[in-house]
Amino acid sequence: MGILAGKKGLILGIANDKSIAWGVTQACKREGAELGFNYLGDMLEKRVRPLAESVDATLIESLDVSDDAQLDEFFGKVAQQWGKLDFMVHSIAFANKDALRNRFSTTSREDFRLALDISAYSFVACAQRAAPLMNAGGSMVTMTYLGAERTVPGYNVMGVAKAALEASTRYLAQDLGPDGIRVNAISAGPIRTLAASAVGDFRKLMEKSARGSMLKRNVTQDEVGNTAAYLLSDMASGVTGEVHYVDAGFHIGVGDPGIE
Ligand code: NAP
Repeated sequence: MGILAGKKGLILGIANDKSIAWGVTQACKREGAELGFNYLGDMLEKRVRPLAESVDATLIESLDVSDDAQLDEFFGKVAQQWGKLDFMVHSIAFANKDALRNRFSTTSREDFRLALDISAYSFVACAQRAAPLMNAGGSMVTMTYLGAERTVPGYNVMGVAKAALEASTRYLAQDLGPDGIRVNAISAGPIRTLAASAVGDFRKLMEKSARGSMLKRNVTQDEVGNTAAYLLSDMASGVTGEVHYVDAGFHIGVGDPGIE
């Protein structure tokens, strides 16, 4: 029996089969979970629905996390169809491309607001609606990146958003801990996905990461997925409020994105 057998969980943020959320999906399915998904608009439904159906999803609904009314409707459907929720994965981020290409000092108020809203606040917004559906043993996981704590060229306002996301993870963990609900973040090394293509000079970042990591390579969606499955399971029952690095040892080694 898998470590997630008998658990129902939401995975938010699949864009396609390259998404980190898809790696998480495969690990959670393998470990026996029943899964539900969101998609963002009709375009994405065409891509997400077949993927979700291939893992026997029992809930596939539209959700733009920047809209409170949609959040209420989405989690209302989760309550109606599932009754209870055991875990939630938040694998969502967005920033305007220009804000990642231009000098950080030129970031506009609107680009700053948008990046923080969709990439950080949305985790709080989802958590506040998911928690009432969870019993003790519930678990939430979000996706962050080293750019939250170090400067990474080209990551810019997204680094600021990830710093807010990591702090939100700790405050959510403190707040929901007395209810027996755990909240963690995974800091993944660079992986080629749709969102990653918006980051300036991402190819170079991947090369530097592989070179500077202890394992001398980059990580995969599946490796992030396996760590997520562990954190979502009762195997991690004493683990909360943490950032877990799945980056082949890059952050603690000599690796530094700034070093050629
Ligand atoms: P991805 O496949 O492009 O996933 C990002 C997801 O966020 C997409 O499904 C996207 O939908 C969704 N999204 C954006 N705005 C949304 C909104 N308003 N409402 C609902 N969904 C929205 O890229 P990914 O790399 O797997 O990213 C997943 C997470 O991992 C992100 O938080 C990212 O920052 C993080 N991460 C990525 C890396 C990496 O190197 N790839 C490393 C560390 C952490 P659309 O495609 O429709 O916009």
